[in-house]
Amino acid sequence: MKLHEIPITSLPRTSGRTLKRLEFLHIHTYLDLIQHFPFRYEDYSTIVPITDLFQPQYIRSPEDLEKDEHNLLSQGKLTIQGVIDRFDNIKTRRGLQMQKIFIADESGKIDVTWFNQPYLRTIMKPGTRISLSGYVKEYQGKPSIQAEEYEILRTADDATLHTGRLMPVYQQTRGLSSKTIREKIRYVLQTYGHAIETSLPADIQKQFNLEDDVTAYTKVHFPESLEELRAARDRIAFDELFIVQLSSHIIKKEWEAEKVGHVLDTAQYTQNLQTFKDSLPFTLTSAQERTTGEIVSDLADAHPMNRLLQGDVGSGKTVVAAAAAYIAHLNGYKTLFMAPTEILAQQHLHSLTQTFSVLPKDVRPTITLLTSKVKPPKAELDEATIVVGTHALISSKVDFNQVALVIVDEQHKFGVVQRAKLKEKGAHPHLLSMTATPIPRTVTLTIYGELDISVIDELPKGRKKIKTYVTPPKKRDDAYAWIAREITENNAQVFVVCPLIDESEAETMKTVKSARAEFEKLEKVFTGQRLGLLHGRQKKAEKDEVLHNFAEQKLDILVSTPVVEVGIDIPNATVIVIETAERFGLAQLHQLRGRVGRSDKQSHCLLFTENGAPEVQNRLKKFAKTHDGFALAEYDLQRRGAGNMYGTQQHGASDMQIASLVDMKLIEKTRTAVEIFMKEHTPADVPELHRRLQAYHTQHISRD
Ligand code: ADP
Ligand code: MG
Repeated sequence: MKLHEIPITSLPRTSGRTLKRLEFLHIHTYLDLIQHFPFRYEDYSTIVPITDLFQPQYIRSPEDLEKDEHNLLSQGKLTIQGVIDRFDNIKTRRGLQMQKIFIADESGKIDVTWFNQPYLRTIMKPGTRISLSGYVKEYQGKPSIQAEEYEILRTADDATLHTGRLMPVYQQTRGLSSKTIREKIRYVLQTYGHAIETSLPADIQKQFNLEDDVTAYTKVHFPESLEELRAARDRIAFDELFIVQLSSHIIKKEWEAEKVGHVLDTAQYTQNLQTFKDSLPFTLTSAQERTTGEIVSDLADAHPMNRLLQGDVGSGKTVVAAAAAYIAHLNGYKTLFMAPTEILAQQHLHSLTQTFSVLPKDVRPTITLLTSKVKPPKAELDEATIVVGTHALISSKVDFNQVALVIVDEQHKFGVVQRAKLKEKGAHPHLLSMTATPIPRTVTLTIYGELDISVIDELPKGRKKIKTYVTPPKKRDDAYAWIAREITENNAQVFVVCPLIDESEAETMKTVKSARAEFEKLEKVFTGQRLGLLHGRQKKAEKDEVLHNFAEQKLDILVSTPVVEVGIDIPNATVIVIETAERFGLAQLHQLRGRVGRSDKQSHCLLFTENGAPEVQNRLKKFAKTHDGFALAEYDLQRRGAGNMYGTQQHGASDMQIASLVDMKLIEKTRTAVEIFMKEHTPADVPELHRRLQAYHTQHISRD
């Protein structure tokens, strides 16, 4: 039997409740169980005689302990081993029960205290040999030992599992302790460890100096030393990255083997492209020039482009996309331009129409809008060469045979499913995804590895840094007074972003309600100003009107749910207030902040938070100081991990338990390994690798 084929229900002496809880942690098979890796380790390997326990170097301060929570391996913890010589159950004056256990070894004697665990009496009978791990802290001016783990030893040299060693700590769930998980893993490793199948061929293991699978799995759970732990984790991290990068590599190769429906002529239209650029009311930045060049050169290829255009908010991605659409248009083909929301689709319609309006009529693209609510007649769709819309475009009556280019705004990558739908419809287009979310390079090399990347790394000239302030509750009134003055004296327009109440992606009623409440509250604060309310549950006409009024400066303050996060372009808005700012990731805050600062006027961003915790304050202050989206994304990645990084959740970052997505060295190494591997093998050569790859694919690729 293979480990992935043995259900955890086969575990001996395991209650139904425990099994349910394991399932809750997505542990269904023996392999899942041993792939539930520790997230940290307690170093209980220092065994000391009882009399040495209270030496000053062993005393741990609260700060030491707090720091340990973030370390892979705890420091300065201790183990004592001896015989129980007394057990006292004491009732305290406050009605608590206290268990005082006296332990003796050759050197001396000590008492250890537990609270409200009277059942310990049956376990800790006098005469029983015990091994106990914990730390020493100062309590009421005296050192005392704080027990964290104990286990009963049958003989003096009985092997320990929970104490006296480097002890793995697992993500646990209610009613399922690290201790139980540890015992179950130990059982599987002892009985079936030899049956772990390799997921990497021997030549790759050797070339990259990796430990074998059995050793790696054994030592990642039960290392004897820090060196063993490191080697084991290196191997597992390598495996995790290898799968992701192999998957990207294969998708990329498949993609490169395809042919586009229409090969575009770009050389013939060089002059037209130049005329288009010259017609713009501004000069392109050199980053815009460069990325336009990269895209245009892809468009001339017989193989489809699969490119991600990354650029900070306001860096001017739309015009680069427009240039690409223009090339398709000149060749007589259509471009589909997809936006995530109706509001954005309309805005793109508006700005593209304006951008092209200065071109002579005979070369000017015809642009139309298609959303779930606006469905132009077939004739209009047939005539248009740029169809702007929401994702409803994919199931529309557009003549897909005529589509040469598909652009998706504010999305990290085209899903395999979306692409398959396009193909079904007869479209074999070039694809361009655009995102304002700065994705660190380590992440694009892994979970976005199949994409070619273009980066607009420069903002148009003359943009001022947005002054950003973390505003404490007591300054709220002053802030409101200042905003009112900005409006009356400087004609400013203001966004107020309300919190997303539910963490779900779609806007819930709760979120809408809180925005409405905020709106009503602010109406009473800003009596002299004109306020509007925008949220995702409004009727289209209503939304349009609000946005239109704001754009036309008929409103001073727009209270909104975080739907304004993506893409909205109102250059005259110069102040943004973000409520419960601590709820957002820094990259997300950066997106929101990017709603202002879109003209040459000085803009301001006020972050409101009621949360005074130092880590929250520090994070927000870091944000206030930093204006580089990539640096902020990097910060999020380092602090909160890729799993929490805006937009990476769906794409497999959460599969990485051990590999760090900031480890460029390892990422480059596994990338090389994938290339070497694919030259000499195919995944089908290594059954366990093949199986994992399929599983990864089903889980992450086929549903994006
Ligand atoms: P984003 O990259 O966030 O989608 P947009 O494409 O919406 O940015 O551009 C933001 C604003 O900057 C728009 O009003 C656009 O017309 C303007 N813009 C774009 N490129 C330039 C440039 N090179 N110089 C000045 N303004 C520009
Ligand atoms: Mg945009």
